[in-house]
Amino acid sequence: MAHRSGRHFLQIPGPTNVPDRVLRAIAQPTIDHRGPEFGLLGKEVLAGMKKVFQTSAGAVFIFPGSGTGCWEAALVNTLSPGDKVLMFDIGHFATLWRDVALRLGLQVEFVPGDWQSGVTPESVEARLREDSGHQIKAVAVVHNETSTGVTSRVGEIRKAIDRAAHPALFLVDTVSSLACMDYRHDEWGVDVCVAGSQKGLMLPPGLGFNAASPKALAAAKSAKLPRSYWDWAPMLRDNAGGYFPYTPSTNMLYGLREALSMLQEEGLPQVFARHARHAEATRRAAQAWGLPLGCRVPAEYSSSVTAVRVPEGLDADAVRKVALDRFDMSLGTGLGKLKGKVFRIGHLADFNDLTLLGTLAGVEMSLALAKVPHQQGGVAAAMQFLAGAAGSGK
Ligand SMILES: *Cc1c(COP(=O)(O)O)cnc(C)c1O
Repeated sequence: MAHRSGRHFLQIPGPTNVPDRVLRAIAQPTIDHRGPEFGLLGKEVLAGMKKVFQTSAGAVFIFPGSGTGCWEAALVNTLSPGDKVLMFDIGHFATLWRDVALRLGLQVEFVPGDWQSGVTPESVEARLREDSGHQIKAVAVVHNETSTGVTSRVGEIRKAIDRAAHPALFLVDTVSSLACMDYRHDEWGVDVCVAGSQKGLMLPPGLGFNAASPKALAAAKSAKLPRSYWDWAPMLRDNAGGYFPYTPSTNMLYGLREALSMLQEEGLPQVFARHARHAEATRRAAQAWGLPLGCRVPAEYSSSVTAVRVPEGLDADAVRKVALDRFDMSLGTGLGKLKGKVFRIGHLADFNDLTLLGTLAGVEMSLALAKVPHQQGGVAAAMQFLAGAAGSGK
């Protein structure tokens, strides 16, 4: 590899750019995970994560692991073999979560979707009303489908479940939305939430999270799927003192403590507004280029990631290759059936106006170099929005 000066632009929708403050925090000496100092650290990060999930009622769990592991944790702690789960084919991550459920021996009803829109509250309500015998034990929704740039309306889906008066548990994946977009665990009545460290939380990969409601904690007492590593019970017991039943990722928890401080300093509402504003600027750029978005429903635009379609017959990965070779920037690839059809611009986590404009300039130059037919002026449109009254963020 030739020498690259300056910083790599890691503009995939996770892992994201890790702030220097977090990297420095992680570089502190590892301590005894059974010693007194550790207990304080554990308690602090568990309490801090509750604020990020906007929950006070249930419990938060921190696992050394990835988002995928915490998909499994959400299922094995609350369900029993053969239980029926309602899931929705809205994209690649929804499909992968379905696969986890199937491998665990759950029965999945996978509602078809077009990979350009989210889960509709109406479809949830209709299906649950049909299920008068309450065979469906859980409804699982990906809040921000990272493969398509579509965000499902979790609060409205909760209301749909309530209108159907159905007792199913509500499981939500916020791996690429937590700390980017508003997520209200208690208010939206979510039973288990799944998250990871490497997206909105500004950390390297390596931690996974669950937030569990009192109803989910009660379900865990009678759930019969086999569980060991992901079992909430020993976690709950040891977390009370800030400790863990097996060796936690001590240095990642230093990083988490620092990231939580950063989120608190900025304020969650400001964090969400910043993401929404950068997402809007990105969409204006795509519109100026004349390239369609992966998401066709404006109410469901993601604040973390924008998927951009290239014209039929062209390879979206060619744009990504040029961006990496010429400008040292990584863009997200098309996943699953979107392979080659879209590239994805991550605009989440530790991010500001000029990092966004650098990103969009890299995309615009790469579109030209990869000979993707488009109009110029995407960066200019984003600049106009960011500097103008509508986009000033004030
Ligand atoms: C990244 C991602 C995952 C998978 O997380 P891993 O940490 O890679 O296991 C799951 N769901 C969504 C929505 C994601 O964006």
